[in-house]
Amino acid sequence: MNIRVVALAAIVGVVALSSSTLAAQAAPRAVDRSNMDTTCAPCTDFYRFVNGKWLDTATIPASYPGIGVGREVYDRSLDVLHEILEQAAKDKSAAPNSNTQKLGAFYGACLDSAKAEKLDAAPMAAELERIAAITTPALLQAEFARLQADGVDIAFGVGTEPDFKNTKLTVAAVGQGGLGLPDREYYLNDDSASVKLRDAYRAHVARTLELLGDTPAKAADAAKRVLALETSLAKAALPLEEQRDPKNIYHPMSVDSLARIAHGVSWTTYFASVGMTPKSVIVVSPAYMTAVAGLMTSVPLATWRDYLRWKVTDAASPYISSRFVNERFAFRSILTGTKSLPPRWKRCMTATDESLGEALGAAYVAKEFPPEAKARALAMVGNLEAALRDRISTLDWMSEATRKEALAKLAAFRVKIGYPDRFRDYSTLRIPAGASYYQSAMLANEFEFRRQMAKADKPTDLNEWGMTPQTVDAYNNALNNEIVFPAAILQPPFFDASADDASNYGAMGAIIGHEITHGYDDQGRQFDASGTLRDWWTKEDAAKYDEAAGRIRDQYSAYIVADTFHVNGKLTLGENIADFGGLKIAYAAFEKAMTGKSRAPVDGFTPEQRFFIAYANAWRTKIRPEAMILQSRTDPHSPGEWRVIGAISNLPEFAQAFGCKAGDKMVRGEAVRATIW
Ligand SMILES: [Zn+2]
Repeated sequence: MNIRVVALAAIVGVVALSSSTLAAQAAPRAVDRSNMDTTCAPCTDFYRFVNGKWLDTATIPASYPGIGVGREVYDRSLDVLHEILEQAAKDKSAAPNSNTQKLGAFYGACLDSAKAEKLDAAPMAAELERIAAITTPALLQAEFARLQADGVDIAFGVGTEPDFKNTKLTVAAVGQGGLGLPDREYYLNDDSASVKLRDAYRAHVARTLELLGDTPAKAADAAKRVLALETSLAKAALPLEEQRDPKNIYHPMSVDSLARIAHGVSWTTYFASVGMTPKSVIVVSPAYMTAVAGLMTSVPLATWRDYLRWKVTDAASPYISSRFVNERFAFRSILTGTKSLPPRWKRCMTATDESLGEALGAAYVAKEFPPEAKARALAMVGNLEAALRDRISTLDWMSEATRKEALAKLAAFRVKIGYPDRFRDYSTLRIPAGASYYQSAMLANEFEFRRQMAKADKPTDLNEWGMTPQTVDAYNNALNNEIVFPAAILQPPFFDASADDASNYGAMGAIIGHEITHGYDDQGRQFDASGTLRDWWTKEDAAKYDEAAGRIRDQYSAYIVADTFHVNGKLTLGENIADFGGLKIAYAAFEKAMTGKSRAPVDGFTPEQRFFIAYANAWRTKIRPEAMILQSRTDPHSPGEWRVIGAISNLPEFAQAFGCKAGDKMVRGEAVRATIW
């Protein structure tokens, strides 16, 4: 239920998993051969060589879209989180309005399935009544603001984000939104699979409206009009690939200017009703706002009322009776291939995590995150930064002018590890004992919405984290020039105090390198040391960079993920550049750390070989075909197999470690190899 403007999500480069620690004097960790297929030559298919047996035998749990190391690590954390929440729910002595009381009340409200069944659709009654009473464009606009505060995704998004050209200041922003299918292409493609999926979606919208009491004929007619309206929104939306360029999603203007390009909406009134009087607004896509404002006056109010009934019910479905929960899951399962819902306690845990993430996170790190892990991770980040500094200092394709800026940016990186210095203050959020699950979720959504709106025209809070400590992931936020590693990623096999350099640098080192390199990917390189959107590249250097990036784009576009779906080389470019660069500098840091140490093989593998094995192990993933197609269409990360093969095949260091020859599948020749760092 994050309230996040599209632009921010597009700029924050997130690695989809991972980590491991630098141990000063640790024993070499044995290579786990039980996952490997050693009948496959490493130079022919390294992903299969490392993960082949696991790929052949691992089973995906019915409620998961896929499995892999990140999921395994998260599942271990679940036990800790589960225990925290069970205790909080039982704790009758928790101080009123303390975080423990709120965690217990929220989680407990969710567990009460009998109450959810009894209430059925009743918790949404007030919203549905208001929607039924929309008889003027002014009332429609007012309801938009009300529902957005409840976390309902409708027509356009409103939020706040650092001003790209003055990131010390956070400002208001409006972006795209309101689609029920995963992306605009799902509405616009006319291949048979897309048509079939749209039919299934329309039937799902109709069935959901029938659950509210519509007759089948009325529901079918409403669903048809809802799909047509969403298709109009999709047509106006900026494609995902185009959102990658920060210049395309940064259009600062006054509220008056927004009113000129998007008339039909009274923007001053609108902002007042979401709790803002912004001095200026960043518009993600002016053309989109023009289109939405036009639709708000040209589309009949009856259609808007049906659209809002659908959106409200879809958003409420996880929090109400099982008729709604199951209908929503049935459609989601078409997209992800999952066979069953997770057990209720797990869904309740995820929902509590989404609504009270830092309250849960504070309890989590008190149990799980030893201070020494932070020190070790910091040391490793320092070594990775030094490796990139070496590379930038000696790159023969980069001019001195660009080099100076690149090094200044590296020197200014802010590093966050484990958890925030100050956890979020939830004191103004009340989750009363006895509140229904739906009511609890809406209170948390409104709290988050007000928190976001309150940031407008204020200094950017550099202490804030974009992920909770219990998230198994990491990110680079170019606007703050920072890299962030939550506590939960600093666990084996990513980060292991008892392991040696080879496995730690191959897994966690590559992830740290990945996040650092994001600062110089196709988006990141457009921001300077202060996080400002500013072109600091000479024309010649930018052209050389683009040439190498173009090679990476084309290489990945050639990979087939499932059926006829290819990796989208343009959408995944930033992540692929970060994987490739991250692995390269992790290897350089590893080599430096190995100076003077024994290179004797362990379990038949040299330290260099074990470095690459650790990398390929960290990205082993098995995904249902449906989820794989969904990922390839919407996720800026390439699937695990290509994260491994794409990166290593460009690295002569890999070929050298395994004695691969020119012409081997895992080796790209010098003429076609991509090299940036
Ligand atoms: Zn990333």
